[in-house]
Amino acid sequence: MLKYDSYYFQCPHCHAWLEGRDLKAEMVNQSILYSDGKVLNDNLITTPQKMIMCPSCGHIFWVEKPAKPFITYEKPDAEVYSWNTWRFFGINFSDNKGKMALINHYKTFLKKSHYDPKKEIYLRRFLWWAYNDLHRNHQHVRLKYLLNGFMSFGVWHCNRKLILEGEKLFIKNHKDFTENLKRLLALLEKHPDEQIDLELPEIYRELRQFDKAKDLLDQVGSRTHFTSEMLRHSKWKDSRVFMVSG
Ligand SMILES: [Zn+2]
Repeated sequence: MLKYDSYYFQCPHCHAWLEGRDLKAEMVNQSILYSDGKVLNDNLITTPQKMIMCPSCGHIFWVEKPAKPFITYEKPDAEVYSWNTWRFFGINFSDNKGKMALINHYKTFLKKSHYDPKKEIYLRRFLWWAYNDLHRNHQHVRLKYLLNGFMSFGVWHCNRKLILEGEKLFIKNHKDFTENLKRLLALLEKHPDEQIDLELPEIYRELRQFDKAKDLLDQVGSRTHFTSEMLRHSKWKDSRVFMVSG
């Protein structure tokens, strides 16, 4: 049984058919939450992709809500571009080259046009997450993960190499990462409706403004596992994205 429902929609420019997917929440085995707000369900990012580049003609268009009549659940009697061909612009994430390609896509989109604040927030948030993807599971480099039996030596070793390489790329691009995050912060402060829970303290933490992050966290009424973890990392002066639960 498939974990998702397929739906179909057309490129407004060349009318090619594209397949979209709705994940069925009841069939998800594992959900992971990261400190930057990215959520993975069975390794799939749940936030819908709003900006789409047509795999057939390269036309860029926005889909704010994939709803009828723009989409249909009936498979069209025509060739359909599968989800993988346009999801994250068809990039393969198994290596750091793919991760850098995604970063460069977002950077190019942001340079090419002017977007309204909502769209710019969307693009800058995804660019932020894409930078963090370079070293997202940094805790996996620890020997503990091998010794706990979570993975075989081969998998652990390969994964470790990938994350350490990613960390180097992250450091190399840190100036651009910071610039994007500062711009995102300014936009979110102007448009509080667009903020995701705890996004502001996390941005301050990742910008290494730990006191400001702590101040904001202290203002949050109820203490949760998420806020306690973020406070802990702020006290350690650790600015790296981390896994909150999973
Ligand atoms: Zn097209």
